[in-house]
Amino acid sequence: MRIPFVAGNWKMNASVKETEALIHKLIPLVKDAGKVDIAVCPPFLYVNQALALTKNTHIRVGAQNCWFESSGAFTGEVSPEMVKDAGCTYVIIGHSERRHILGETDEIINKKIRKALAAGLVPIFCIGELLDEREQGKTEQVIERQVTRGLEGLAEADMSHLVIAYEPVWAIGTGRNATPEQAQAVHRYIREWLKNRFGSAVSDAVRIQYGGSVKPDNAKGLLTQTDIDGALVGGASLNADHFAAIVKAAVS
Ligand code: PEP
Repeated sequence: MRIPFVAGNWKMNASVKETEALIHKLIPLVKDAGKVDIAVCPPFLYVNQALALTKNTHIRVGAQNCWFESSGAFTGEVSPEMVKDAGCTYVIIGHSERRHILGETDEIINKKIRKALAAGLVPIFCIGELLDEREQGKTEQVIERQVTRGLEGLAEADMSHLVIAYEPVWAIGTGRNATPEQAQAVHRYIREWLKNRFGSAVSDAVRIQYGGSVKPDNAKGLLTQTDIDGALVGGASLNADHFAAIVKAAVS
């Protein structure tokens, strides 16, 4: 059985005060949530604070990005080893905003995934099609390209330390989520691909989150689909009540 996993991607939002208020409010709300993995992913500057605030709770902390080298002349970048050293469990890699605003390619994403795994982090590997790709019937083609290139060179054993997040780009931050049926169909496709590439044991075990305008009122419909194992939540993760409601929907 796959334990559901709900992660909050705060994106470029937060301040010292807001980090404290949000996490303080969240802790009691999810304390008795049951069998579910929970993470918050603040901007780098607030990772240490989030780690201190979540100490002795079952909320884990992730980073939103990392580079693919260990150290050196990469101004403005943070290595996976640094993310791990700080105390993070997860790192989001290949988020659509990094692909489409910051120009990250499948090849860069693959390097980051490999390096993050080597550093002992759990990558949350994001994939998803653009609206016009969906409208042209190219969703599966895009997903296949992203997983083939993104997971190139990975071994079966690596896959137990990796989470996939299917996030249709047209649903991110738009308030327009995929229907449970649309999301389930792509999740099934990803699981079939995993089966062909890594075998049934991996395909059955890898957690595939859905992301894209997940809110308390649509979470249950999405998270009760057979192949959806949790959510990567953007906007709604900045509201402790909303995020906690999504966590609860994932458990049920
Ligand atoms: C995200 O940032 O990964 C995301 C899914 O954002 P939102 O929930 O705001 O659509």
